[in-house]
Amino acid sequence: MKLNTPIEQFPGIGPARGKKLAKLGIATAGDLLRNFPRDYEDRRTQTSIVRAQPGERVCIRAMVAQEPRLSRIRRGLDLVKVKAVDHSGMLNITYFNQAYLKDALRPGQEYIFFGQVEVTGRSKQMTNPVTEPADRRSTTGCILPVYRLTAGISNNILVSLTRRAVESCAGQVQEALPQPVLEEYALAHSEFSYQNIHFPDSFEALELARRRLIFEELFYLAAGLTLLKDRRVGTTGPVCAQADLSGFLKLLPFTPTAAQLRVMEECRQDMCSARPMNRLVQGDVGSGKTAVAAAAGWLAVQSGLQAAMMAPTEILAQQHFHSLSTLLGPAGIRVGLLTSSMTAARKKQVRRQLETGQLQFVVGTHALLSKGVEFARLGLVVADEQHRFGVGQRAALTAKGERPHVLVMSATPIPRTLALIVYGDLDVSVIDELPPGRTPVETYVVGEDKRQRMYGFVRKLVQEGRQVYIVCPAVEENPQAWEGLDTGPDLKAVTTYAAGLREEVFPDLRVGFVHGRMKAKEKETAMSRFAAGELDVLVSTTVIEVGVDVPNAALMVVENAERFGLSQLHQLRGRVGRGKHASYCVLVTSSRGQDSTQRLKVMKQTTDGFEIAQEDLKLRGPGDFFGNRQHGLPQLHIADLAGDMRLLQQAQQAAKDLLRRDPQLAQPEHRAVLERIRTMFAEQADIFN
Ligand code: ADP
Ligand code: MG
Repeated sequence: MKLNTPIEQFPGIGPARGKKLAKLGIATAGDLLRNFPRDYEDRRTQTSIVRAQPGERVCIRAMVAQEPRLSRIRRGLDLVKVKAVDHSGMLNITYFNQAYLKDALRPGQEYIFFGQVEVTGRSKQMTNPVTEPADRRSTTGCILPVYRLTAGISNNILVSLTRRAVESCAGQVQEALPQPVLEEYALAHSEFSYQNIHFPDSFEALELARRRLIFEELFYLAAGLTLLKDRRVGTTGPVCAQADLSGFLKLLPFTPTAAQLRVMEECRQDMCSARPMNRLVQGDVGSGKTAVAAAAGWLAVQSGLQAAMMAPTEILAQQHFHSLSTLLGPAGIRVGLLTSSMTAARKKQVRRQLETGQLQFVVGTHALLSKGVEFARLGLVVADEQHRFGVGQRAALTAKGERPHVLVMSATPIPRTLALIVYGDLDVSVIDELPPGRTPVETYVVGEDKRQRMYGFVRKLVQEGRQVYIVCPAVEENPQAWEGLDTGPDLKAVTTYAAGLREEVFPDLRVGFVHGRMKAKEKETAMSRFAAGELDVLVSTTVIEVGVDVPNAALMVVENAERFGLSQLHQLRGRVGRGKHASYCVLVTSSRGQDSTQRLKVMKQTTDGFEIAQEDLKLRGPGDFFGNRQHGLPQLHIADLAGDMRLLQQAQQAAKDLLRRDPQLAQPEHRAVLERIRTMFAEQADIFN
């Protein structure tokens, strides 16, 4: 048997089972090797009947003492009862709905029974134990792997197929990790690892196997991403003139923080070098990322290039357009806006101005990606709040220029090591400082019983001249997201909720609402009325989550707060505390669940986005965190980006060292590594653009 032997050539596997196995991604012997168990069951303990303790899951070797008895209780329920004995005592065994055992179990034969022992009075019992002839054991007496299943494929089938595959093929997997790496990080060899990840001799052996396989996966991931990053070496982008930033800094209405200055400078160096910039700027909400984007845009324009900034929502694009034209207009820079809600005529005009180069800086939504949009000399692409954009979209905008500089801005702070992986093809800058004079937002987690007090607080702040956001889960925005969830009557839906507030709770206040299903024009109107102070309370879905800036807003109320991720709550909270007023965030939850209360408490304890992100990652896992594989990374089979942080660091280091010695992985002993990286990234064709 070879690694590429088709699964249909295994005994007992015909086309029907083959199809079912294909659903699990298993087509060959090699696939079985890489189909790692999701769990293990320790079936090693063997004991005698007299010693077996109630509640223990053990193997008992015993002889069937009499003809098994079959009784039909009712339709669809029959029992087989057996007595088994060993040298120490007797065991009563009951099987439900396994009538075939009546004939299969032979009196006088020895079997292994694995299961939980129960004691009533003086008799010991087992119900539905795993049962195998004592001389032909295959799933007892060992640590048994537990695999992900699909209809028609039992764990036993997978165990026996995998055992065959491991026995004949584990040694055929070429050891791809270079010897020095194996030694330096004390990693188990490939053959050992494939054997022990499936059929571990002990939990220690399992740990060694796991460690190696996880390391290996992270190693290829890190190396692959580094290769991608290095491909930019030698490609030239539009080089900016060696301008300094003083001209730009004069335009700013405030003194930039040291962190902002440092990151602007990093961008400047990138843009003035021959290598196209590909940089991620991470900064907590309110850290002033827009100014950095503006600085980069200013630089591009100084060198006769155009800049484009892509925002995830219409509202945000509007707002950026407004602040960038206010900031850069006085320097004679022509800033434009392009969103899908604009009239056809207006869009056409903007497109023409981009084509002729008349517009130097354009802000827009996804509309910027559409076919008709062309640039005279696109030199810089800025993607704001990147977690909303896939790698592919970034690439689509980039393709509109000749290797333009790329600046990605994210307010979803993630731990640095993880950032290096997730944004492995990007250089990372961090704005780790907030502008001075911000007062931290006070946060409260309250239950339904405090609702009236919360309303009272809203009223009090409004009377003081402040404005208030109230956010509800996005029921109407994204119905799919709620499928299968209990969207009971309690779940606040924006429109009905806003109407109720307006009529019953705050008839004397000016209440508006926005949600994703509204026409862009209506959204915009509501938002700008709020920004202009014409509304006291804005009820909204998370469309206001990113970026929106209304300094007079001093209270953020989040309904059904348990429905939101911590990072999302952090974003929402970041909408207040932007001015000189004391600001508050009230998280309303009716859930008494331990988990969700615990989670929300984190929000009260810290305002550090990095810490919150770390917690979020721990609680929800990276899948959720980055949203349905939006990050565009290859699928990982065994490693877990959130959990294996320490191994991640080591794998990253090892990959870096290797690529320093052999940047193209051209040496013969590294060919296998390159091969594995290619396989891993094969599905991610777009990342290579
Ligand atoms: P974010 O990083 O969340 O995008 P913004 O760029 O929207 O943050 O900035 C938040 C607010 O802080 C804006 O009103 C901006 O004008 C202001 N701001 C940015 N940098 C500074 C600074 N260095 N000093 C004072 N205010 C600043
Ligand atoms: Mg922003």
